[in-house]
Amino acid sequence: MCGIIGVFGNPNAAKLAAIGMFAEQHRGQESCGMAVSDGHVIRLHKRMGLVKEVFTEQVLARLQGSIAIGHVRYPTTGSATEFNSQPHLLETLFGPSHALASNGDVVNYKSMRQKLEAQGVFFNSDNDAELLLRYIAWQIYQNGSSITEAIRMMMKDVKGAYSAVFMVRDALYMFRDPLNMRPMVWSRMEDGTTVVASESCALTTLGMHEFKEVPAAGIIRVNKQGITIVENDPNLYRPTKEVRHCIFEHVYFSRPDSHHFDENVYEVRQAIGAKLAAQDEGLEVDLVVPVPDSSNFIGQGYANYKGLPLALGLIRNHYVGRSFIKPSQRYRDESVRQKYNVLPNFFKGKKVVLVDDSIVRGTTIGKIVKLLREAGASEVHLRIGSPQVKHSCYFGIDTPDESVLVANRLSIPEITEASSADSLKHISIEELRECVRLPDHYCYACFDGQYPLEVES
Ligand code: AMP
Repeated sequence: MCGIIGVFGNPNAAKLAAIGMFAEQHRGQESCGMAVSDGHVIRLHKRMGLVKEVFTEQVLARLQGSIAIGHVRYPTTGSATEFNSQPHLLETLFGPSHALASNGDVVNYKSMRQKLEAQGVFFNSDNDAELLLRYIAWQIYQNGSSITEAIRMMMKDVKGAYSAVFMVRDALYMFRDPLNMRPMVWSRMEDGTTVVASESCALTTLGMHEFKEVPAAGIIRVNKQGITIVENDPNLYRPTKEVRHCIFEHVYFSRPDSHHFDENVYEVRQAIGAKLAAQDEGLEVDLVVPVPDSSNFIGQGYANYKGLPLALGLIRNHYVGRSFIKPSQRYRDESVRQKYNVLPNFFKGKKVVLVDDSIVRGTTIGKIVKLLREAGASEVHLRIGSPQVKHSCYFGIDTPDESVLVANRLSIPEITEASSADSLKHISIEELRECVRLPDHYCYACFDGQYPLEVES
């Protein structure tokens, strides 16, 4: 999973992009990068690390120009190296220069790369965003296509999820896959600056409060002449009739103050909490405790439904980051231990409903139940805001191999016992569908294995 940003028409484009990327830091903490055009040259800066560490005042001062694209990376395909970080830049001294950053995953990467390599195209990384860039550039050079045509050709051939920003020296493009899987919204400032971002929280941070979606299979060009929206018929490029947004964006990944796919993320989470509570008519407890931060609104929905206090009894160290992303199980175990503490003298004798958004490998939840038990909780009932994760995601969420997903190794009673909880319930797919306005417009493949596109092995 990753976050993208694009800025057009502002002398402080790099600074605005950095602010937007910082707001999207939750979408990727491994590396970050930015490409900035001053109309003549595109300058690129990318490093491993967080936005505030990489984009210091001195670095931003060197990135002069009025067009910028930026990216925060959370590796899904391609290793966690600077090589694979984004944006990717293709530079020619006297010809056009192109840069691209994308959020999502390509599912026919291998065959597409082979196709391009057979045409003499070279690759510098094993990152699928480079494939998008090379494909578009190849169409432009080889076949003399316009940029818009080249992107359209790419959409026909390259399958997967991508919400992407593309730049040349004098224009910014934004485009999105025909299934519209990853979020992407854009807006304009009062002074005419155009900004596109993965999540609206980045736009809000920059002072914009009304957003538009980039249409499925749509291409938007922004240049000195203005904004051109090319609405392609997405049905020409996809096997399903409808779009397939990622439901996990609402469950877990996006910030709760974001708005996309025509939903406020926090409201979907509250609805999930209410559904979980509705299953528990007979359950008598004292408190509802969410696992911060991603489950706060699910916990709130549960507590409101049952008229129970929402207790912020778990404290999260925000400097640990997302423990899930750590490279090995030992690191994940350690970071969960360092990440959460309980309030002292708070849980003794209390019956608790503990709410989390998901169980994936099973690293987190058992450790948290243990913390609550050690703190004296007399009962701990686990309620999970997603169905059991049983299938890998190939569209941009880093769900691990199916063999390490705990739902494929242990039954619900076994997970309950292994985590020393008194009970465990998940929301069902049917109930989750009832939490969004257009349930048929979502992908639930990590729960039901129904992938919207064929995935190349
Ligand atoms: P696990 O500990 O492996 O069961 O993972 C579940 C925990 O990780 C939950 O508390 C989620 O908040 C978080 N999580 C779930 N999916 C992801 C993901 N794809 N990337 C990062 N964190 C995740």
